[in-house]
Amino acid sequence: MGSVNMLPSGGGPGPSPFQAPRRWRVAVLGAITCVLLAGCGQVQGAHPSTVGVRPVASPRPSPQYSPNGENEAPGPGIATYEVVSKKTARPKRVSEKSPFALCPVRGSGYVADDFGAPRYAGGYHPHQGNDIFAPQGTPIVTPFDGLAVRSPNLLGGNAVKVLGQFGYAYNAHLSAYGKTGPVRAGEIVGYVGNTGDALGGPPHNHFEWHPGGGPAIDPFPFLLKVCG
Ligand SMILES: [Zn+2]
Repeated sequence: MGSVNMLPSGGGPGPSPFQAPRRWRVAVLGAITCVLLAGCGQVQGAHPSTVGVRPVASPRPSPQYSPNGENEAPGPGIATYEVVSKKTARPKRVSEKSPFALCPVRGSGYVADDFGAPRYAGGYHPHQGNDIFAPQGTPIVTPFDGLAVRSPNLLGGNAVKVLGQFGYAYNAHLSAYGKTGPVRAGEIVGYVGNTGDALGGPPHNHFEWHPGGGPAIDPFPFLLKVCG
């Protein structure tokens, strides 16, 4: 019994002759690692840019984080499809029935077939678009020629609309804005992030399609044509 009680009680505040030196070693190692990492971050072009991912610091989750559907990975029953879109992709011809010339996310990731899925931020509402998951900072490009307009709001966070010939596209949760004003298909209008009600969740582009400027419809069949 006596020998058991003499063992340090895992992580307790009690003094131990072995704890102080080890803490110092950890602190010194940590400091060296920080210096090395900071140095690497300052080397321009040290990382390949083949998928066009721009390094952007990940926002910290809100202290009030709670799952709301938009700050989570796709739920059970939601199919996802791989997205691979390169800068060299050739724009497709657009029409009313096939309104996108290019995939709105330029890089690698996956799109969730989640139009109508439940969302809870600001009260229950059905999901009005598809979430295209990709690494933080992946370029968001306009899928057609149009006019890019910033449209920040509480749920969407940093958001941008692109008004085109057949309707408008809405992209939300941007980590940063790109070009605004007149844009050609493929020009960068923002970067993937998790602002708004996606805070604390996996970075993605919440993408909506509003034909004729009316209510959103499921963009999934159109995205499949250009994001494969
Ligand atoms: Zn969404």
